[in-house]
Amino acid sequence: MKKTFLPLLLLGVATIIGLSSTVAAADRNSEHARKTLEIFETIIEIESSKGLGNVPKIAAYLSDELISAGFAAEDVEIIPFGETAAFVARYPGNLSSTKAPILFLAHMDVVEAFASDWERPPFKLTQDDTYFYARGTIDNKFGIAHLTSTFIRLRKEGFVPDRDLFLVFTGDEETTMGTTKMLAYERPDLAKAEFALNSDGGGGDLDGDGRPLVYGIQTAEKTYVTWEITARNPGGHSSTPRIDNAIYDLADAIRRIQDYRFPVRWNDMTLENLRYSGEQLGGEIGAAMVAFAENPGDGAAADRLWREPSVVGQTRTTCVVTMLEAGHAENALPQSATATVNCRVFPGISAADVQARLQEVIGNDAIEFRQLDDAFESPVSDLREDVRAAVAEAIAAQYTDVRIIGYMSSGGTDGMHFRRAGIPTFGTGGVFMNADDQYAHGLNERVPIKAFYDALDHWAIIIRELAGGG
Ligand SMILES: [Zn+2]
Repeated sequence: MKKTFLPLLLLGVATIIGLSSTVAAADRNSEHARKTLEIFETIIEIESSKGLGNVPKIAAYLSDELISAGFAAEDVEIIPFGETAAFVARYPGNLSSTKAPILFLAHMDVVEAFASDWERPPFKLTQDDTYFYARGTIDNKFGIAHLTSTFIRLRKEGFVPDRDLFLVFTGDEETTMGTTKMLAYERPDLAKAEFALNSDGGGGDLDGDGRPLVYGIQTAEKTYVTWEITARNPGGHSSTPRIDNAIYDLADAIRRIQDYRFPVRWNDMTLENLRYSGEQLGGEIGAAMVAFAENPGDGAAADRLWREPSVVGQTRTTCVVTMLEAGHAENALPQSATATVNCRVFPGISAADVQARLQEVIGNDAIEFRQLDDAFESPVSDLREDVRAAVAEAIAAQYTDVRIIGYMSSGGTDGMHFRRAGIPTFGTGGVFMNADDQYAHGLNERVPIKAFYDALDHWAIIIRELAGGG
């Protein structure tokens, strides 16, 4: 759904502990740099929003690129799926390899963009001195271009991994994730993977002066689930009001949801994240984050974080009323009243549990619940030391002394289905940027040109670390 950076480090940290600096700039004229830019530009200019039928063109282009770089045609696969498609490419490991494969995830589709709303054409790669602009520059054609060109580069360098590596690109991540589900649940070859690395999650945060604050690896996602709750009533004429009323009943239910707090939840990763972020942030909120990390039973800290929109979701399941619909005429008693309740559920809790709790909280069996979509609960992926170490190597090529922490996002990347399918998945994208520069999904999406070039070695280093130096 969205390129997700750390949710906690967004509050404008003015200074950081320790000195970090940029490592020597990448060569922008290398063959790899030019190929990455060529792929980036080509796929950006193929408008791959929902319903246009253009994702297969991107898949076909990527397929041609890999085959002309020496990949066997039978290792490169385009899987049509309605108007869209998935793309899978295998980089074969050496024949004696016994290790399970690694998957590299990205998505080829983008959120739609209307040229009339943008300052620049959304489906043409343009630039000024600082940024590349276009839909997909960050979410997620950056990942597609860098991963694909890295496979090409490693192949040309004669690299033979000690296990199979797969590019696994989806074609409808921003909408229904049909290709994601197909790849995650119906592909025995991919199901054997030891783990997956997702270019659509993770990344480094920079402060306003371009200094690195932290690098986050996405290791978990909350479950997204929405209900409509409805009160019904026989209704009647407004000149003869009944005691009971659908709008009043619904209002009572809404008030109870407003007043209810789900119990605090935590895991090792969320506590580490809160502690580190709180130390960096300082002040009253930072102190509450640290106190919560020390003792999640600290009621005062939990209460303080409850009032902090950017942090509350890291401490518990949240549900909020987002839409209302009620009544049908100004002079009629309402026959129905409906509220939309959107929840972000902590890993380890089922949607059914949340519904049961909401029903209990509302305390009125006459309120009907209708869940709008399937909920896909996914577990936390325990951050592997080998992945952490490989990412540390890769980011050391961009910046020195950057702390790495795991984080949980509010949900909605391909990773949730792979985790659900039993494949630990880590968001380890190569972009370092300032949170204020984030326009993913919005108007005038852009990525710093520096970030584009600084990430050129990101995936190659990770792959060499995790799949041998053959
Ligand atoms: Zn995305």
